[in-house]
Amino acid sequence: MPDAASDTLTITLPDGSTRTYSVGVTGREIAESIGAGLARAALAITVNGTVQDLERPITESAEIAILTWDDDEGKETFWHSSAHLMAEALQALYPDVQFTIGPPIERGFYYDVDLGDGTLSADDLEAVESKMKELAKRDVSYERREVSKDEALAYYKDQGNPYKLELIEDLDDGEITFYEQGQFTDLCRGPHIPSTGRIKYPKLLSVAGAYWRGDESNPQLTRIYGISFPKKKMLDAFLEQRRLAKERDHRKLGKELNLFTFNADVVGPGLPMWLPKGATLRETLADLLKDEQLKRGYEPVVSPHIGRLALYRTSGHYPYYKDSQFPPMHFGGEGDEEDGYLLKPMNCPHHVMMYKHDMHSYRDLPVRFAEFGTVYRNEQSGELGGLTRVRGFTQDDAHIFCTPEQVKAEFKDVIDLTLKVLGALDFTEFTAQISLRDPQNTDKYVGDDALWTQAEQAIREAAEEMNLDTVEKTGEAAFYGPKLDFMVEDALGREWQLGTIQVDYNLPERFDLTYVDAEDERQRPVMIHRAPFGSLERFIGVLIEHCGGNFPSWLAPVQAMVIPVGADFNAYAEDVATQLRDADLRVKVDASDDTVGYKIREAETQKIPYMLVVGGREEEAGTVAVRAHGDGQQEVISVDAFIEKMQAEREAAWS
Ligand SMILES: [Zn+2]
Ligand SMILES: [Zn+2]
Repeated sequence: MPDAASDTLTITLPDGSTRTYSVGVTGREIAESIGAGLARAALAITVNGTVQDLERPITESAEIAILTWDDDEGKETFWHSSAHLMAEALQALYPDVQFTIGPPIERGFYYDVDLGDGTLSADDLEAVESKMKELAKRDVSYERREVSKDEALAYYKDQGNPYKLELIEDLDDGEITFYEQGQFTDLCRGPHIPSTGRIKYPKLLSVAGAYWRGDESNPQLTRIYGISFPKKKMLDAFLEQRRLAKERDHRKLGKELNLFTFNADVVGPGLPMWLPKGATLRETLADLLKDEQLKRGYEPVVSPHIGRLALYRTSGHYPYYKDSQFPPMHFGGEGDEEDGYLLKPMNCPHHVMMYKHDMHSYRDLPVRFAEFGTVYRNEQSGELGGLTRVRGFTQDDAHIFCTPEQVKAEFKDVIDLTLKVLGALDFTEFTAQISLRDPQNTDKYVGDDALWTQAEQAIREAAEEMNLDTVEKTGEAAFYGPKLDFMVEDALGREWQLGTIQVDYNLPERFDLTYVDAEDERQRPVMIHRAPFGSLERFIGVLIEHCGGNFPSWLAPVQAMVIPVGADFNAYAEDVATQLRDADLRVKVDASDDTVGYKIREAETQKIPYMLVVGGREEEAGTVAVRAHGDGQQEVISVDAFIEKMQAEREAAWS
């Protein structure tokens, strides 16, 4: 509301308190009036939810929040402003450079630049970083300037920058702004921090190739990644965490521990091959999940890896998601059969067809079909890295067909299952992100209004009753239903989005699914897609980094290595191994000619939870000298006692 006849306005602070200021007051002035500490820390301001520069005059009463480093939007503004500073440094060192876009990212920022004939490698980053520090010290402000479209076009024509010209073409006259700091001008809608002096600790991290607008047919650009902090201890903590993350990188550990391998040239990029130890790990995890699911009333199903195009036309997966799929297989003819087949991008349509195979009464519901289903997506090769993004992966998938009243109980059970498994794997920090529809824009969603309201409420209550911390995201729901996503924090404090539980009103409609209710009427079931860990590939990638390759003893692909102290005791070592295998433990014997010390070091490198050293005394007494990974102590116990110890560790994790 404009305060028409008044020269004052009312500012409402995040705590709900209000203050009166003159019209035209700036965020900086408001921060100063609240306190000197806040004024020093202030980076930007939100005015009625929109982030803007501290120096912009506020002309109407508004709700505001002063943003500091502690706010995500504060960090974003800081990092984006650092991208401008890096651009200025690049411009000083590489006069022919042309700039494209330079956004903030989850951690830091990047700028995509065209260096013309010049090149820039990781070795050059230090020089750019020094220049940034030098430029930051001038402590000049980021000045916002509104420009006309003609003026903007003229500026970049003069610079010979086709990228910015292309960006400006898409903008409307009247909404174009430039930001200037020192010698550098950039097309940018902002906002920015007050001045370069805040950027005390910039760090440039890496250089990569990137295509203009992400399109491989466009010119290749150079992407420079960096991060920056206002305090040295923040930079130090970041670098230490980065070092640990590198050490724990699942691609590195996957190689060292012989879990999986890729061969982009011969086999294809993004197509992991699970080696025996990795496959054992994966199957162990999948078996545990299958056991849990059986206890909870899931029924296993198996579906083929391809399906007719007609199936995916009905489901809507084709052609709507064509770009993320491998191209269909055609057999040349015109008839129905020749129409073609698709490599399975999703398991859902097959499960839907299995539901349709039978008549269902309300008494049968919920029907829960579970399958570790392998699906294929044609991810861009530039995006493939390790297990977190692959072209073929196995989802811990299940589809639940239920009545609207059953949605809440089903969500609660999936949450319970997820928490149990995450707990067993020592993940203790997680939140649930609930995606709701945009109430202003209900037209774009399928399904009945009342059903949506009921399902959204059911999800909220389910999360609350399971004591989950939740974040609600309005407008983030898929067009076909609300959902809950699991966000997990790993041992290094990084957040990963794992699996999802999603309500779907669309597929039951498209496939005309029904059940018969108590009055003998046909009704539409609600469908729930759930893959609480997402894909096994991604989940194991996250798990490897979380535990640094030190898997819990009940999950490790090799749980114990039996180490005979000499060839005379190889037979006893084999005998011990047989006893342990009979007790369902995964055990190996190191019968090589190497010394005991060497064998122990090998087992330590392989991060095997237990080494069982056996010699004459052990053979006579039927014992083993147990040595835990990373612990020099040995404890002599009977083989049976070791079996009991392993069982107890497993039970402790799963109770
Ligand atoms: Zn900017
Ligand atoms: Zn599904």
